[in-house]
Amino acid sequence: MAVTAGNGIAGTTANGVKTVKLAWSHSNELDAESPLVALGRTGDEFVLVVADQKSRDERACDPFITALSVMVNEDPFPGWSMDNRQMIWVKTYSENDGLLPQLEKKGWLRPVGTVIKQGFVTLPLAEVMLSDTEMVQRCALCEAWESTETKERFKRCSTCKRRYYHQHQHWPKHKKDCKDLVKGRLADVENRRREAGYVPPKPADPEGEKIVEMAD
Ligand SMILES: [Zn+2]
Ligand SMILES: [Zn+2]
Repeated sequence: MAVTAGNGIAGTTANGVKTVKLAWSHSNELDAESPLVALGRTGDEFVLVVADQKSRDERACDPFITALSVMVNEDPFPGWSMDNRQMIWVKTYSENDGLLPQLEKKGWLRPVGTVIKQGFVTLPLAEVMLSDTEMVQRCALCEAWESTETKERFKRCSTCKRRYYHQHQHWPKHKKDCKDLVKGRLADVENRRREAGYVPPKPADPEGEKIVEMAD
């Protein structure tokens, strides 16, 4: 076996995406599968996705593995750090238990010391340390994920610099969001996205989600 889960094997794909193998101490299934993962961004949410095409083909479904960022009602988008990096409330419970120290060690996330209590769980605030090109972006138009194995990357909107497209006829649909993104009105954009039928990615373990739902 070339790689062992959790030993922190990290790499960078030919098109610049950072990848890692993680120890999933609270998910036997994921631990056995030991997928090579990349940080993915869908809208302004951060998730872990399967990095290599072979594993994506084997899964024969969306490469989404688990959500990393949690949109808490009081503060869904906690803003940017002094270094202009996006901050997120990190889901550390359920199958994500034990992931944050590994992601911190790899330099992907940096906990800043602030926490927020959500019912029975406490979520730490962390800075996302990877640059846009080091993570997998999701097309804001058709929700396709970028490949880690093609040289070609999705195109970033040059106005808001916060949405990616792999097609060029995106402007009529993006115009409204773009204006809000430029002004930092991320919640307005997210609400519009959900009104249009977007369903946030679901975690592998539904038990974990119940904790937060009970707290509402
Ligand atoms: Zn697309
Ligand atoms: Zn834009």
